[in-house]
Amino acid sequence: MSWSGWGDPAKSRELPEQVRKLLHDFLGVRAPEAPAVTLESVRLAPIALAGPQVSALAGVVGPDHVLTSHEARVRHTRGKSTPDLLRMRAGDGSDAPDAVVLPGSHEEVARLLELCARERIAVVPFGGGTSVVGGLAAARAGFTGVIALDLARFDRLLRVDAESMVAEFEPGVRAPDAERLLAPYGLTLGHFPQSFEYATLGGFAAARSSGQASAGYDRFDDMVVGLTVATPSGDLELGRAPKSAAGPDLRQLLLGSEGVFGVITALRLRVRRAPAERLYERWRFASFAAGREAVRAIAQEGPLPAVLRLSDENETMIGLAKPETIEPGGEAGCLAIVGYEGRPATGRDVADGSAGAGIPLSTRRDAVAAVLARMGGEPVGEVSGEEWERGRFSAPYLRDALLAAGATVETLETAGFWSDLPRLYDAVRLALLGELGSPLVMCHISHVYETGASLYFTVVTAQEDDPVAQWERAKAAASTAIVEAGGTITHHHGVGRDHRDAYAAELGPAGVAILQAVKSRLDPAGILNPGVLIPRSG
Ligand SMILES: Cc1cc2nc3c(=O)[nH]c(=O)nc-3n(C[C@H](O)[C@H](O)[C@H](O)COP(=O)(O)OP(=O)(O)OC[C@H]3O[C@@H](n4cnc5c(N)ncnc54)[C@H](O)[C@@H]3O)c2cc1C
Repeated sequence: MSWSGWGDPAKSRELPEQVRKLLHDFLGVRAPEAPAVTLESVRLAPIALAGPQVSALAGVVGPDHVLTSHEARVRHTRGKSTPDLLRMRAGDGSDAPDAVVLPGSHEEVARLLELCARERIAVVPFGGGTSVVGGLAAARAGFTGVIALDLARFDRLLRVDAESMVAEFEPGVRAPDAERLLAPYGLTLGHFPQSFEYATLGGFAAARSSGQASAGYDRFDDMVVGLTVATPSGDLELGRAPKSAAGPDLRQLLLGSEGVFGVITALRLRVRRAPAERLYERWRFASFAAGREAVRAIAQEGPLPAVLRLSDENETMIGLAKPETIEPGGEAGCLAIVGYEGRPATGRDVADGSAGAGIPLSTRRDAVAAVLARMGGEPVGEVSGEEWERGRFSAPYLRDALLAAGATVETLETAGFWSDLPRLYDAVRLALLGELGSPLVMCHISHVYETGASLYFTVVTAQEDDPVAQWERAKAAASTAIVEAGGTITHHHGVGRDHRDAYAAELGPAGVAILQAVKSRLDPAGILNPGVLIPRSG
């Protein structure tokens, strides 16, 4: 993973000259004056931990699994939001941990938490490091040091219960490895967020992730049937049955808890049969409003496809519906991508990969197509599986090229009930336009429910002298607009530090008090991810 950008540096991309010119002409983008710094010149504070503390950490996990090198600290600094990348490119490593600690077992995690509570060392659970909401930047004040507790050694598939369709994993398994480990069983998770290449299963659970095929395979939190968690106050073993009436479901308290209550050391996940066949198609609608009504009809009438993504006019025009190109497209209206994954109608159609088990792919496709056509959609051809595979993870690489060229590109997301969506869409767009002058604001709907959907915005603007402060202003305006228009501050990115205040406003004082009470009971010394998710108690 690139330390100051996204992904495999070998896959980094240059912006074509024609695109640079378009950015300059339409958005006023100019190349930044200062080039990005090198890894070696990132500024880090001296290591705050005392020698005996480092030795005590090594006593738990072994000396090879405590890293204090400049590079290890830089690589565990913050996450991968655009402000995170801008800060790294400017050499600001001020949030770096003092040490990176890699435990190898649940027992070692439990012992580390005990040690860190005693020594007042803050602990940041670290999965793939792809947080985009400040979920990895712990507040230092009041602690003797900060460690990143990297779960990379928790990389095993522990058990497959094919009868129940449940697989148990360790949390540090990255998404592509999860698919590779399930493949011999003919199974899949079907979780394909854009951060797929690097994010981990523990991170998905801790941040309530949602993937590109959520229509068919559900959000990640809906896949979790059981969790093992180490907390400073003891272990939690949650999930004895798929559903239960035994009081409040504590799994829900841990899902989305972003490491503030405990460290997830094992997860039991519902799996699906790997699809034998995939088909992706494009549909065109006259407008975003018309397309929105069509995807609502699909969400409410069913059957759902595996992938359902509707781009607004701007996103359609710029070609992010085909993220491998960013040249303006000539197609009018709004494009939707509709993907089906399942088994062919061969008489063996007992279980499809995605939702709607038992319905052959072609039957489902025909039913969905009938609804889309009735709602004014026009089919505009298939997307090859290859094109879809290539396109779906390429946008983050483009962000690096845009940053280097002097454009800020960032995303933000929300969700609301169908009846609130038009207002929410307008409010966020207006807030961004009001704050940034004339940015390019694009949006899509890609996670749908019977009662509502998410809105995912991508913003491109020319960098000012202080691009981090510029984005923070825009983000604050968009967050206020979301709250006032009745949306949630996040549909799938999570809370971290960036959304903490808006989350508190969503919960209200009584809700915050519940979280603080749980926090002080499970983590009395407050060592786990301080400053993330909940305001600190007392
Ligand atoms: C380019 C890009 C694209 C993205 N696309 C999507 C997308 O399509 N859908 C989506 O949902 N998200 C997306 N994200 C956001 C991010 O990938 C998700 O939030 C993901 O769930 C984080 O997983 P991770 O393993 O990287 O976790 P990390 O970033 O390492 O951690 C996330 C949070 O969870 C905590 N944590 C991690 N592991 C554990 C554990 N085992 N126990 C307890 N706490 C833990 C951390 O302390 C942190 O607060 C994207 C991010 C980027 C940079």
